[in-house]
Amino acid sequence: MNATEEFSIGLDIGGTKILSALVSKNGEVVSEIQCDTKGGEENFSHQIILAIESLLEKEDIEMNRIKGIGIATAGVIDSKKKEILYANNLNLENYPIGNVLEKKFGLPVQLYNDANAAAVGEWLWGSGKGKHNLIYITVSTGIGAGIISNDSLLTGSHDSAGEFGHISINLNGPLCACGNKGCLENYASGTAIAAIARERLATGEASHYFFAKMDGLTAVDICTAAKMGDSFSIGLLKEIGEYLGLGIINLIHLLNTEAVILGGGVMNESELILPSIRRTVQKHGIQSMVEKVKIEKSSLGSYACVVGATGLFFCKNDQLAALPH
Ligand SMILES: [Zn+2]
Repeated sequence: MNATEEFSIGLDIGGTKILSALVSKNGEVVSEIQCDTKGGEENFSHQIILAIESLLEKEDIEMNRIKGIGIATAGVIDSKKKEILYANNLNLENYPIGNVLEKKFGLPVQLYNDANAAAVGEWLWGSGKGKHNLIYITVSTGIGAGIISNDSLLTGSHDSAGEFGHISINLNGPLCACGNKGCLENYASGTAIAAIARERLATGEASHYFFAKMDGLTAVDICTAAKMGDSFSIGLLKEIGEYLGLGIINLIHLLNTEAVILGGGVMNESELILPSIRRTVQKHGIQSMVEKVKIEKSSLGSYACVVGATGLFFCKNDQLAALPH
């Protein structure tokens, strides 16, 4: 790090951890710390301030070299007012995170939902660099998406665009927490992989792999078993890839995208699922629309959100115009 180089701070606020990172103008994470997320306004304020102060102390960096603070968070947000409108797991309602941090640090603040931040990160510095139309999809506990359309982040009328996990693929499917039936999230999220596996094993389907803890079975266990050659797990993950592929075809047909980038915990094992996604898209999509679409794993991985949240502070003027601010 040279003595005049400028940075931004990126925060990725998850349900259990806050990742705080010092990000260079090239989108590189040069330093990071992690702390626990705590719910309720007072505890939450304390933790996000701690996450930033600890990082500044660790690097002993002057404030005049920090351009701004970019935040990626789960929950319902208002990016213009820079407020977290509702975050159930953080016990927050109408929380003015932008005001709190601007007042404390005297720096400009940007707020994104997590999938949108990751989409911006991949678009500016990751797997989607140079693309004008891309979709970032996170497959984790749930499923979400961030959409870049003609070099603009597509946010919708109130920051809710990209609820990809709640596209229904079966009218007679299981009831989803959102109230609809058959949402993609119930077929292809990390939670769904574990639930489907438990249900099938309980009703007599055989696996050659010994699952030590049936009650606490997770998607990670299924991936481990698949890597050991367990045909039950390999088959299940292939199916998950088909469901994701079907959802992705809908997005490609709707948005005429050039690239689909997959991140989130489940995609840590992308080699088990990506081939099935690609096959499904090529087999069932409109050929002229899907044949050139690049479907790849996120290159920024767990840094996609922290890096993307700082995008506005360093990107070029034409890219700047495309972001919400
Ligand atoms: Zn739903």
